[in-house]
Amino acid sequence: MKEKKANINRIGFGLKKEIKPMLNENYRSSLIEQIRASNYELAAGDLTICLAREFGFCYGVDRAVDLAYETRQRFPEKTIYLLSEIIHNQRVNSKLAEMGIKFLSEEETSKIEKNLSLLDAVTHHDAVLVPAFGASVEVMERLRQKGCLLVDTTCGSVVAVWRQVERYAQEGFTALIHGKFNHEETQATCSRVTQYPKGKFIVVSGKKQAGKVCEYVLGQEDRKSFLDEFSKTSSSGFDPDRDLERIGCANQTTMLSGESMEIAGMIESAMKTRYGEKDLNRHFCHFETICRATQDRQDSILQLAGSRVDLIIVVGGYNSSNTGHLCKISNELCPAYHVQDADEIISKNEIRHKPVGETEVVTGQNWLPEGKVRIGITAGASTPDRVTEEVILRVIQCAKRQTRRK
Ligand code: SF4
Repeated sequence: MKEKKANINRIGFGLKKEIKPMLNENYRSSLIEQIRASNYELAAGDLTICLAREFGFCYGVDRAVDLAYETRQRFPEKTIYLLSEIIHNQRVNSKLAEMGIKFLSEEETSKIEKNLSLLDAVTHHDAVLVPAFGASVEVMERLRQKGCLLVDTTCGSVVAVWRQVERYAQEGFTALIHGKFNHEETQATCSRVTQYPKGKFIVVSGKKQAGKVCEYVLGQEDRKSFLDEFSKTSSSGFDPDRDLERIGCANQTTMLSGESMEIAGMIESAMKTRYGEKDLNRHFCHFETICRATQDRQDSILQLAGSRVDLIIVVGGYNSSNTGHLCKISNELCPAYHVQDADEIISKNEIRHKPVGETEVVTGQNWLPEGKVRIGITAGASTPDRVTEEVILRVIQCAKRQTRRK
């Protein structure tokens, strides 16, 4: 069968001016602009809202959303599919669904990776949007063969990680990836490694698992227990005796940057002990691949949490990795509540939120202190300013009720 020619667009269709009013209407916030212009603070009675210096849509998300809107604008009649969520934000995904864009998987893209038949619905007449986190080599290849229009919104910072792990695979290093194995981005990154015949990867979720890798390198960990731990999160046929001889560290772009650096340091130290300083370059390499936007947001919340705030509200999708990390950083310095939108703030006494490290949303009590209070606000890289604005207005409303009752 003759292979159809791939038609890939990564730059949009020159319709930025046409889509701007829609984007402004759906996502922009004049209140947020006003607070930014007032030294990032807003006073309302006893309450002061303090905004982080960097929060909300990052350059990669901006581009992904623009490309989706431009595609709809350019092809009003075409069937347009999204592999799964374009970014981890309910508001944005619902808007795209309202615009008639269909989701090939309601769940994460990794569902498609495990079941490529979900792509059967796509024909060469259609357009397919690849999310900002990217997609695996297999999914991209299957779509190329269909000859459909591929609008690839993969963020440049994600592509930079792929280039890194591809280099590791070519040079005989096993890619040790600090990330969440089931996250779309990490799945796509792993597939970049295994496209090379000798490419190997192992994914570690944090320092605990990185410690196990170090112990194995140093001969302090049992082979069976190691394989039990990593059999599902390493490349097929992973042999720790062979595949941990040369390690190149990388990370999902949205992990905690401090933790990623510590993990690289742990691995480097274990390799140095095992192979000696002189041979270290042959056995270890590392390039930090946290994206600039993630780093800026983490630095800003650290600064805000360390200032005079009584609590922090972190706004963003519950499945958003970078939002979860902002909450973790905040929580180390003051009480922090991760909420996905304003509806989660039920009253001055009750708040629905996802505690750090938990998978379920819980209802917290008495979250808003009495009297004068300073509340820090930040939002993940996939959260529109409009959603953050709604949260701020809801907090002000709850605080006003409290003031009135005093
Ligand atoms: S968080 Fe970073 S890697 Fe992810 S889309 Fe934004 S800029 Fe790109």
